[in-house]
Amino acid sequence: EWLERAEVQAIFAALDGADGRTRAVGGVVRDSLAGMTRNHADIDMATEFLPTTVMQRAKAAGISAYPTGIEHGTVTLRVNDTVVEVTTLREDVETDGRRAIVRFGTNWQADAERRDFTINALYCLADGTIVDPIGGVGDLLGGRIRFIGDARQRIAEDGLRVYRFFRFSASHGGEIYDADGLAACSAAADELDHISRERVGAEMMRMLALPRVAKTIGVMDRLGLIRVAPGAAEALVRYEVLGGRSATTRLALLGRESLDIRQADWRLSKAIAVKAERVAEAADLLRVGDVAWAAYRYGEDAVEGLAVVAASDGWPRERLAEVARELGRLRVAPLPVDGSDLAARGMRPGPEMGTALRLLERAWVDSEFTLQKDELLSRLFH
Ligand code: ATP
Ligand code: MG
Repeated sequence: EWLERAEVQAIFAALDGADGRTRAVGGVVRDSLAGMTRNHADIDMATEFLPTTVMQRAKAAGISAYPTGIEHGTVTLRVNDTVVEVTTLREDVETDGRRAIVRFGTNWQADAERRDFTINALYCLADGTIVDPIGGVGDLLGGRIRFIGDARQRIAEDGLRVYRFFRFSASHGGEIYDADGLAACSAAADELDHISRERVGAEMMRMLALPRVAKTIGVMDRLGLIRVAPGAAEALVRYEVLGGRSATTRLALLGRESLDIRQADWRLSKAIAVKAERVAEAADLLRVGDVAWAAYRYGEDAVEGLAVVAASDGWPRERLAEVARELGRLRVAPLPVDGSDLAARGMRPGPEMGTALRLLERAWVDSEFTLQKDELLSRLFH
């Protein structure tokens, strides 16, 4: 359990966690109360101490401290593998619609009220005592994702909360949407162009890694919050029924044509975009029956490609099982010939050599990775 970790207790000890001057808040508190295991270890804490004091106290206790967001009052503390973001209590003085003007404070009620949903305004002291200033525990147990305060106004302050509303409805609301919050989100759907794409992308990727998102994706598609290919929402439902939960496979299922749009829209990391693209390409090869080539080209991604086909193509179960068996049986190995082998036989580097290598590759894959090097070369040099 996160709270019992010596690292967490060391941080609490440095920041007077026992008497509640520093408290854990947000996801880690919410998820442990809900009995959910988290797939990431991020811990957020709130504190009465000013950022400079947090830095000093951490260092005095031998804890590494980095001022990662000093203008927001955030200091990142690290003990071994445990990373905790400690943010000084803030109070909104006023807001101009995009940016809140804040000052540091010691008012826990005000800190709670600035947060987005009641389930995210739960605090935990060093000894495990839960502080619930807004009634978040009841909502958590009832699966209600309720905005704190007036939903429309809270969305007007920060449009990202629309995406977070759907993310938490998928993770903690059983894909049931609080009527008031849903109405406010639909009303705001056309006015969200100005929110940061990175932030939207990060929320969407967290959402796509949840066990169940298909219904939520469908609702967001209908509201125009995301763009998905025709049939993608139905394919996502089947993917979940089959037990799939990979975020990149889901990205591939949302539609390959729009992957590049999505990469720009959501500022996805190159690594994630490339992986989703590979999964989609592998699926295309499997669709045309080129299983060995899919395995050779895409390795493990071909397995995810098969999941894409299973979710979107309506293949009979036997055909899927057969391809799965074939993927499992194939012992993929790299082509045992390279450019230097061809050069040794008098071929000059250039387009001709490229063509020759592709030809050998094809023969290699067709032989299911069994031809000997000289057998391969004899196909070029008689
Ligand atoms: P996760 O489990 O994904 O980390 P989380 O609730 O901890 O979920 P974070 O984005 O890490 O989400 O934010 C930590 C806390 O900060 C939230 O629980 C919430 O109280 C507050 N918060 C985050 N984003 C917003 C926002 N856009 N508006 C208001 N409060 C927010
Ligand atoms: Mg968090």
